[in-house]
Amino acid sequence: MASINVAIVGAGPAGSYLAYRLAQYGIEVLLFDFRAPWDRPCGGGVTGKVIEAIPLLKEFSGFYEVHHLHFISPSGHQCQIEVPEGFFSLSRKELNQFLLGHAQKAGASFIPKKVKEIYWRGGQEVWEIRTEDGEQYLAYHLIGADGANSFVAQKLQLPKPLEAPLTLGVGYHFPYDFERVATIKFLDDLPGFLWVLPHENQSTVGIVATAPLLHGQRLFEKLDQFISQYYELEISDQMRRFVGSIPWYEKFQADRIMGHRWTMIGDAAGWVDMVSKEGIYYSLMSAATLGEAMGVSLPDGDYRPLWKEGLLPMLQQLNAARRWYKRFYRYKKLDKMIERTRGSLSYQKLVIDFLSGRQTYSRLRRR
Ligand SMILES: Cc1cc2nc3c(=O)[nH]c(=O)nc-3n(C[C@H](O)[C@H](O)[C@H](O)COP(=O)(O)OP(=O)(O)OC[C@H]3O[C@@H](n4cnc5c(N)ncnc54)[C@H](O)[C@@H]3O)c2cc1C
Repeated sequence: MASINVAIVGAGPAGSYLAYRLAQYGIEVLLFDFRAPWDRPCGGGVTGKVIEAIPLLKEFSGFYEVHHLHFISPSGHQCQIEVPEGFFSLSRKELNQFLLGHAQKAGASFIPKKVKEIYWRGGQEVWEIRTEDGEQYLAYHLIGADGANSFVAQKLQLPKPLEAPLTLGVGYHFPYDFERVATIKFLDDLPGFLWVLPHENQSTVGIVATAPLLHGQRLFEKLDQFISQYYELEISDQMRRFVGSIPWYEKFQADRIMGHRWTMIGDAAGWVDMVSKEGIYYSLMSAATLGEAMGVSLPDGDYRPLWKEGLLPMLQQLNAARRWYKRFYRYKKLDKMIERTRGSLSYQKLVIDFLSGRQTYSRLRRR
């Protein structure tokens, strides 16, 4: 059995985009996923900065432009702003299909199976990866891109995401669009929000929140109440449910996510913005940065110094979002902020700059 250079577990945006970039560098890649490309539980909201950062996405035809953002504060203040550019929705199945297709076209081998065992064969310095059917594969480098409840992280005995507080998201795929108006309603009893995100002839409608103890059922009850109160719609069988968790770490650190011949990216590394819950951007950015570092360093060099250096701006952003999280989810403050946004063009501009990526968390306070 020949050893392949890189094995990637998980063909979500992180794994597939990394496979695509490595294959472009001529690196042999095995990409494992038992259900990709699938409609992963997700709102599907992305900001313009994703398209700016990942050139391949200019070829993706599945972006659906949202024209207005409607905010509702915890106590019910409302404001609607026009979004001239930079906020989109997408179908997760279409995005996953697009990225996986490009990875395969570039030369990555896709193995549509579940990874069941991973061993480090110290003598030969290779990873042995076993799939559910007992098949074995050998690889010099192992990448965990297998999402929030990462099996790779478990096998490597990495520190787990915090179990409390827990961040959970639930929702429905709705068979209506809402005329390109996205709605965000901040909760009045938990740090989190309800959302309505229109897509072509459909929408995702959901709720995401963080709490020490959180049950999906409680979130569905809140969501159903919101849907009937604001849209006067009844939940029917046509509305497909979804439930998913979002990883939560105390601090984002480079050393926790890499070691000798292994590294983690995307949700498996815990890379989600704590305020907005935006993870697609970070999964793609972590893949892009790692792809670059591996591409110029392999087969013989150590990619980790370059990878660490490339990570720094993202780690700063994620840690800044973590700090903002505590200040942002204060109910009275959110009320005030939404009232101000309604009456102030400069606040509206700030929201728009945020969505396009021109405004970062680190410079938010100064502004
Ligand atoms: C309810 C909810 C709403 C969200 N809304 C948004 C949003 O609007 N915008 C946004 O930017 N982010 C959102 N996120 C976050 C976003 O979905 C994730 O950050 C993003 O999907 C991470 O991509 P990834 O490639 O790292 O992991 P994933 O997309 O989770 O992909 C991991 C892949 O690994 C595979 N896998 C797992 N275990 C194995 C195994 N043992 N063997 C083989 N394959 C395996 C899985 O099948 C999966 O395909 C949301 C998350 C949730 C839960």
